[in-house]
Amino acid sequence: MSTFELITLPYSANALEPIISAKTIELHHGKHLAGYVANINKLLPGSGFESASLVDIVKKASGGLFNNAGQILNHNMYFEALQAPKANNAPSGKLADALAAQFGSFENFKAEFAQKATTLFGSGWAWLSLDADGKFVISQESNASNPVQKGLKPMLTIDVWEHAYYVDYQNRRAEYIEKYWDIINWKVIEARYN
Ligand code: MN
Repeated sequence: MSTFELITLPYSANALEPIISAKTIELHHGKHLAGYVANINKLLPGSGFESASLVDIVKKASGGLFNNAGQILNHNMYFEALQAPKANNAPSGKLADALAAQFGSFENFKAEFAQKATTLFGSGWAWLSLDADGKFVISQESNASNPVQKGLKPMLTIDVWEHAYYVDYQNRRAEYIEKYWDIINWKVIEARYN
């Protein structure tokens, strides 16, 4: 039987400061994500999903198993694509060209993604994914949902559950979203795209 493990972050807890504090990372990774991992490992035995991948569980399971698997997949993709703040942070190469081609410019893409993240009601995630034709799709996913449920290939996400920003920004979600652009590790997103 497979069990899932808490990912090790590819940076220290304070690496994203001042945009995301060490306190937030310690709670978000060390308590929230760790909790989802502990929960799924309790729910797996006897579920029929003992040997399934995380993506398969997200596509096929329901209830607590789905919720915890979805949140592990979402958080792993979010945390693994962050890095220390960088000015003028932007993608390059094929991904940059394709974003500019579909949205008109990188700035237009950012505006549309930020609008989806800002207006998502309640807890959830904004995503940039690819559809089967290779076109970009920006979507809002509530709670533990993930674009793989719609047959999309997810690439970039922002967590807009309050636990992701409340310690640092309180109710100012838009400010967290605006600053998030400086901590995206575009090399990771480019690798998911290529
Ligand atoms: Mn979260």
